[in-house]
Amino acid sequence: MGHVKLHIPGPVEVSPKTFEAFCHPMIGHRGQGFKDLYARLQPQLQGLLGTRQLVYLSTSSAWGVMEGALRNLTARKVLNCMCGAFSDKWFDVSKRCGKEAEALQVPWGSPIRADQVDARLATGLFDAVTLIHNETSCGVMSPLAEIAALKARYPDVMFIIDAVSSMTAVPLDFDALGIDVLLAGTQKAFALPPGLTVFTVSPTALAKAATAKDRGYYFDFVEFEKNARDSMTPSTPSIPHVYALASKVDEFFAEGLANRYARHRQTNGMLRDWASRNGFTLFPEPGHESLTLVCVNNGARPGGRVIDVAKFQKLVKDQGILIDGGYGKIKGTTFRISNMGDETPGTITALIAVLDAALAKL
Ligand SMILES: *Cc1c(COP(=O)(O)O)cnc(C)c1O
Repeated sequence: MGHVKLHIPGPVEVSPKTFEAFCHPMIGHRGQGFKDLYARLQPQLQGLLGTRQLVYLSTSSAWGVMEGALRNLTARKVLNCMCGAFSDKWFDVSKRCGKEAEALQVPWGSPIRADQVDARLATGLFDAVTLIHNETSCGVMSPLAEIAALKARYPDVMFIIDAVSSMTAVPLDFDALGIDVLLAGTQKAFALPPGLTVFTVSPTALAKAATAKDRGYYFDFVEFEKNARDSMTPSTPSIPHVYALASKVDEFFAEGLANRYARHRQTNGMLRDWASRNGFTLFPEPGHESLTLVCVNNGARPGGRVIDVAKFQKLVKDQGILIDGGYGKIKGTTFRISNMGDETPGTITALIAVLDAALAKL
């Protein structure tokens, strides 16, 4: 069988053009060629993230920077906001880093609400909070702007935000949000292969990081800032990824960011319509559904149609498309389909034809 096209929520399908960009002849990471490449990319990344801060490139998956943020920025206690598999795991990672941590747990499918965060931060116990904007495991988007607005009340608390599966698909304005860390791995909405993380850090957070004794080296935010000023990275980056990122970001601006965001809204709407037309409900609490994937309810909660997901997934795969059969404790009782990256109304229409044909065979 040939290539199976990825419609799982990460890694997502990577275009031939992006793979070609990887094949640039190798250059040295301390030479002018690399500096020129990163320097050209820098203002585009700043535009994408809505920031005047330097945007850093980490050769790691997202977890590297997610763990690094804790090591750079938590001195007293971190509040880990938990609403799904990735955000739940962040609490575990806090403890593995030896940090004092508290779980703010809501049921999977519910968003994190600003008043819940406010109530915990009001105790004065915390100097950091972690939040996943788009919880990919259950397709829930939390109200980032409302939660970020709390920063004005708690200026000494570091607001660490994972936007792994939303960055580039929805507007994210780092400076306007007033948050401290914003990060995304590139294998989700960027539609690059895994192995690179894009992130930025506020001046307040950089000052705090400088006082953190055990922040290590590989993810030291102070090193990232110092090197980025010279258009370099602390250690040898995956240079091919940086070429591919430059190619990809050129595509974003050629399309226009507003058009890109509208396209994600449209393709996500098409998948939601497909689900409801076929008698399914969505897993997330209404009003808090992700814009980059659909997490379809399949018995995890009452209501809606229930199918044999494994069989459905296989029928779809036989037609050359991979969808996801549900994550962790909601495997099988939900399933997920991604509209991240390069997907268009045309490719989603083709996907829907395959989904419909598979449903008809169940
Ligand atoms: C995929 C994902 C991660 C983990 O990313 P890695 O690249 O595996 O480190 C973290 N957070 C969210 C929201 C994700 O979707």
